[in-house]
Amino acid sequence: MTDKPKTAFQRPYRSPFSLFDLARIGFFFFGFPKNTFGSVDVTSECNLRCQHCYFFEQERVPQWSLEQWREKFERLKGEGFRFYQCTWVGGEPLLRPELIQLGREYFKFNTVTTNGSLPLPDWKDVSWCISVDGGPAYHDRFRNQPGLYQTIKDNIRRSEGQRITIAYCITRQNRGDIEASLAEWYREPKVRNMVFSFYTPIRGLDDDLWLDWPEKDRMLDRLIELKQQYGDFLVNTTRALNLMKSATARSVTDTCLFAGTSFAFDPAGDAKKPCMLGSKADCDRCGCIVPFFLRSLTDRRLVLKDLKARLFSSLQRKRKRDCQR
Ligand code: SF4
Ligand code: SF4
Repeated sequence: MTDKPKTAFQRPYRSPFSLFDLARIGFFFFGFPKNTFGSVDVTSECNLRCQHCYFFEQERVPQWSLEQWREKFERLKGEGFRFYQCTWVGGEPLLRPELIQLGREYFKFNTVTTNGSLPLPDWKDVSWCISVDGGPAYHDRFRNQPGLYQTIKDNIRRSEGQRITIAYCITRQNRGDIEASLAEWYREPKVRNMVFSFYTPIRGLDDDLWLDWPEKDRMLDRLIELKQQYGDFLVNTTRALNLMKSATARSVTDTCLFAGTSFAFDPAGDAKKPCMLGSKADCDRCGCIVPFFLRSLTDRRLVLKDLKARLFSSLQRKRKRDCQR
């Protein structure tokens, strides 16, 4: 087991009640609004050709011009579309920053999911998800790009004040790198946190990245233990991790809230169904964290249980701090 690193760098203290808790209370009372969040495939192009990339398995569509996107956004605005949150994905979205620039004029919150190979624009209002799936040797091999891992590190170190999350997709091949990666990125002051998803099998692609259910359950238990050590640095919530286990996963994905409530547009502005992963994704073995996270936000019984536990542990921590004074 890798211990959480002890370094001179101290991560800032965060309140026991987070925005996540506030969101849960909101959804508890008012339900989950449709089309509040979703994704846009910025471009069909990518500067990498990773093994098992689902994007190039989809039917290629011509990409819309900026003017076509502006017209669409204006039309949606007229229809009362909320323009709350958008995740800009690809291909590699930073190959077409001008479309994200345009989107930032419309959406209140923006996240860009990038392979990290290109310098991050100086957009402080944007959240960044950089895909890093394993240690340097595995990542560079998987992404077919020698030196990529170091390039990502250099780009992160050159960034100034951007909110950066490392997004790690767990596969059969990189499951051994998780703990070392967590420890490494925890030490990087410019990385805010780290989130883990699991590989979702795509019809037509090899299944060799998929962890079978017993192994996936064991990995989820280990992530729950690591969550105890790393706290909020590990973004996944314990509740959502538990829901991803074999005993409950189908009950979540059979009525996937991501498919039911989000929007997803392809590079030509057409709606993608059932979700941003496209029509070939195997929902029964979905490794995306979003449906599980949404269920943990909206299931009233779970929300009450979690808030009670959170309140109890925060009171305990406060009592302990008071005693130490
Ligand atoms: S960086 Fe992303 S879009 Fe590009 S090839 Fe790799 S997985 Fe596919
Ligand atoms: S692939 Fe996952 S997120 Fe997408 S619709 Fe299926 S279950 Fe939902």
